[in-house]
Amino acid sequence: MVTMRLDVPPPALRLGFDPDALRSNWQALDKLSGRARAGAAVKADGYGVGVRQVVPVLHAAGCRDFFVAHWSEVVDVLDFAAPGSISVLHGPLGDADAAFARACGVKPVINSLEQARRWLAAGGGRCDLMVDTAMNRLGLPMAQIGEECLKALEIDVLLSHLVSAEEDSALNAVQCARWQEVCAALPHARSSLANSAGIALGSAFHGDLTRPGIALYGGVPRPEMAGLIRPVVHPQAAIMQVRTVAAGETVGYNATFTAPAAMRVGTIALGYADGYLRCWSGKGRFHAGGVELPVLGRISMDMTVIDLSRAPHLNEGDWVTANYTLPEASAVTGLSQYELLTVLGRRFGR
Ligand SMILES: *Cc1c(COP(=O)(O)O)cnc(C)c1O
Repeated sequence: MVTMRLDVPPPALRLGFDPDALRSNWQALDKLSGRARAGAAVKADGYGVGVRQVVPVLHAAGCRDFFVAHWSEVVDVLDFAAPGSISVLHGPLGDADAAFARACGVKPVINSLEQARRWLAAGGGRCDLMVDTAMNRLGLPMAQIGEECLKALEIDVLLSHLVSAEEDSALNAVQCARWQEVCAALPHARSSLANSAGIALGSAFHGDLTRPGIALYGGVPRPEMAGLIRPVVHPQAAIMQVRTVAAGETVGYNATFTAPAAMRVGTIALGYADGYLRCWSGKGRFHAGGVELPVLGRISMDMTVIDLSRAPHLNEGDWVTANYTLPEASAVTGLSQYELLTVLGRRFGR
């Protein structure tokens, strides 16, 4: 078969991305980390923002530690950052993972004695070690930190992960004390405990390296961070069709919206398949030129209908932007700020 070079036209939906806001958020979190440096969690395609546009901006800002979850996520980061600055949180789940880490020089995060032995058997080298201090999810149980085989590990970052950092939970201090105990017991180059919210808990939680994720991308996990963090992404879509709906007519699937009077409406190229989920039905808002444009009726798979009554200047081909400031969007939809970002689909131009 002959491979043709097709000139695919640009999509009618795009994810507006503000690199200055991302840079400013990283710098604010780095500063808030005190004597610790801020790294960056860039797993899940940079929380849906697009890892290939996120990592170069963070790297240029001075970030030198990048965390992904899966081995498949390493390749995109490797194009912009040194192998030794990349950590894979899931660790070596099999021999192929360990061999891959050795071949490209990225660090596995060791999560169990079995992973430690697997890594050492593959030849070992610099790695990180995750100790579970309360999550009971992934990581070496506290009871095993004295095990002999750990002594052979060359631990760069010794880390643990907070369960409830976004809340004023008693678990925060408990985990902090346990992590300090772990740090005293195991030789390591750098220590790390705090995610975004943990950074705001104070210097006892900082160690040498912090690992913000959500706040880099505009999430506000704790109220004291509100003034520091700027929105980074803006879902935008083009108006494909404009029509006037007569009084008493309905809009969209299941006729959940009835026009109280004749009104001008627009259909935009964004739907739940793009991550603009059905929970926005009748609740979402778009804007253009300072005018608010409410969502009418149900969100469809590939389309949403908005009220253009107050925007007579808007026409087919014009772009509108979703109100998608994460704390507010979370309050409106009940989705977490993390979900709001990571559901954003693959059809967005990034
Ligand atoms: C995802 C993740 C982070 C980042 O957490 P945020 O709450 O998004 O700041 C930090 N550490 C680990 C181990 C993670 O899995």
